[in-house]
Amino acid sequence: MPRTRLIAGNWKMNKTPQETETYIRAFLPLLNPGRNVDVLLIPAYPSLDRAGACLQDTEVLLGAQDLFYEASGAFTGAVSAEMVRASGCTYVLAGHSERRHVFGDTDEAVRRKVTAALEGGLRTILCVGETLEERKAEHTSSVLVRQLTSALTGRGLAEMSTLSIAYEPVWAIGTGETATPDQAQDAIAEIREWLRTQFADVVADETLILYGGSVKPANIVDLIAQPDIDGGLVGGASLDPESFARIIEGAAP
Ligand code: PEP
Repeated sequence: MPRTRLIAGNWKMNKTPQETETYIRAFLPLLNPGRNVDVLLIPAYPSLDRAGACLQDTEVLLGAQDLFYEASGAFTGAVSAEMVRASGCTYVLAGHSERRHVFGDTDEAVRRKVTAALEGGLRTILCVGETLEERKAEHTSSVLVRQLTSALTGRGLAEMSTLSIAYEPVWAIGTGETATPDQAQDAIAEIREWLRTQFADVVADETLILYGGSVKPANIVDLIAQPDIDGGLVGGASLDPESFARIIEGAAP
C-alpha cells in the first residue's frame, strides 16, 4: 500500500481556543481539496474541543501533543489516552524532544506513553532524534536505535500499523537550522531499515516516517523529494495558516 503523505502542525504552547478558531476559519479555505496529503493539527489541550468543532465535516485530522501513561488518578496536570480521544483526537505525539529535554521524559516514560496511546486506540507519532553533541560525536545512529528499541520493542504488528515516527534532530527544532535533505534521508532510511529488521517488511514499507526541524515553505519540496521522507512535523511555520498551507501544497505528490 503506498504511503499517504502527512503534514502535521504542532502548535506547542500557542493559541487560545478563540485564536484556534480564527486560525482554522482562515486555514480551511486555503486547502486544495485534491491535495492527496493528510493534514493534522495539534493544538494545546484547552483548544482541542474548539478545534474539533471547527474541523467537523472536514478531512483535517486532530491530535494532542502528549499524554500520560496512567488511565486515571492522582496525577495533577496529566491527561490520559481516554481523555485525548474524548477530546476528539485520533492522533497523539509521544516523545517530542521538548517533552524529553524540557520536561525530563525518559526513554522509559516515552515507552509507557507509546504503550498507553496505542492500547488506547490512538494513532501515535513517536518522535526521535539526536542532540547536536550526539551528532558531532557520531552517535546519531546509536541514539536513534536506543530510542526506537526502548519505545517499540514488544509491540505487535497490528499496533505498529497505527504508529508513525517523526525524525526530529534536536538541533534543528525551533532553531531555523534544517537538516539537509540528505541528512534527513539518511537518518530516516536507517529508521526504516531498523523497522525491517526488528518487525517485518510490511512494517518498514508502510510506516509513515516524517521529518521535523524548521520545516518551512522554502525547504519542504526538497525534503519531500527524498524517497523515505513521508511528510513533516512542523512547529513554528504551522502557526501561520498561509505558511502552513504552503507547506502542505509543497508536499503534494
Ligand atoms: C516541532 O515542534 O516538532 C518542530 C519541528 O518545530 P519547528 O518546526 O519550529 O522546528
